[in-house]
Amino acid sequence: MIVDKQGRRFRNLRLSLTAACNYACTYCVPDGKRLQAASAELEGEEMVRAVSLLVYGAGIEKLRITGGEPLLSPKFDEIIAGVMALPLHDVALTTNGQLLPRKADLLVNSGLKRINVSLDTLDANRFRAIARGGDLATVLQGIELMLDANVKVKVNMVPMRTANAEQVLPMLDYCLERGIELRFIELMNMGHLKHNAGYTRDFIGMDELLDAISARYEFVRTDAAYDSTSIRYEIPGHGHFGIIANESEPFCSACTRLRLSSNGYLYGCLSNTECHDIRPLLSQPFHLALNALQEILRNALADKQNLAFSGEVTVMKFIGG
Ligand code: SAM
Repeated sequence: MIVDKQGRRFRNLRLSLTAACNYACTYCVPDGKRLQAASAELEGEEMVRAVSLLVYGAGIEKLRITGGEPLLSPKFDEIIAGVMALPLHDVALTTNGQLLPRKADLLVNSGLKRINVSLDTLDANRFRAIARGGDLATVLQGIELMLDANVKVKVNMVPMRTANAEQVLPMLDYCLERGIELRFIELMNMGHLKHNAGYTRDFIGMDELLDAISARYEFVRTDAAYDSTSIRYEIPGHGHFGIIANESEPFCSACTRLRLSSNGYLYGCLSNTECHDIRPLLSQPFHLALNALQEILRNALADKQNLAFSGEVTVMKFIGG
């Protein structure tokens, strides 16, 4: 197992099935750009092989399937079947929820136990303005279907001052009523936001969020796993919520994440453009590929930031948000 000086190793893999998406969220995609698949994306079979290699060669225990929009990919069915057969402790999915009603049976039958749905507002007009695609009612229907099938649902919301700040409490109420853990993601200084004044204008930090929530609820901070990115709070008698405080309370020093892009590159850090092509390994005999992987993993681990997320021009949808 490769471990760095800070004791970090890779344990969590985020697999981006495709860079294509049926949304064009304002914080992810620059104006006027639509989301297309990256050129030369891996085949489904290659992705499953890559995950298998990383399970055995990197010590990956937890997998999150993401994108782009993973449910949009024609490879999804093959990949979910393939990875569910691997010795992973946990497999989860991050989706914008637009295709959940269509994919509900497949997801439930696959044995997937939990999903995260990205949803920034309960207001249909705001929804259209942020996502620039999709339909709010369809996402809400998809969430209900998952809950009815006993799939554990978390909701991810990116609060932004000029887009959805007034939705913090309505979103929290909606989630608490359904036993859903809402996770607020602090706006990240990535992609086109990296050089955009809109980032500073729209950023809402953890303290401000907690202030807003304290207007309605009392809460206490709870323990979280060592490498958890979310700071969890309990609202006694109501449920939990979390904050992914990239800026306010960075978690780089305990980061165990590795990302595989849809075109076969490993990224050791969201905040670093360095990446490592593993496509050539996927056609090699497994034991040779495992050996060759070790050097790549050492380099990918060295790409991690030491203390804090500094932001990068890399786009979330390409490297797996
Ligand atoms: N399409 C899927 C979805 O919407 O959940 C998966 C990919 S999306 C890139 C994954 C997550 O990244 C979403 O929850 C989205 O809100 C988040 N995200 C993208 N860009 C972000 C940014 N600049 N700051 C914070 N979160 C961001």
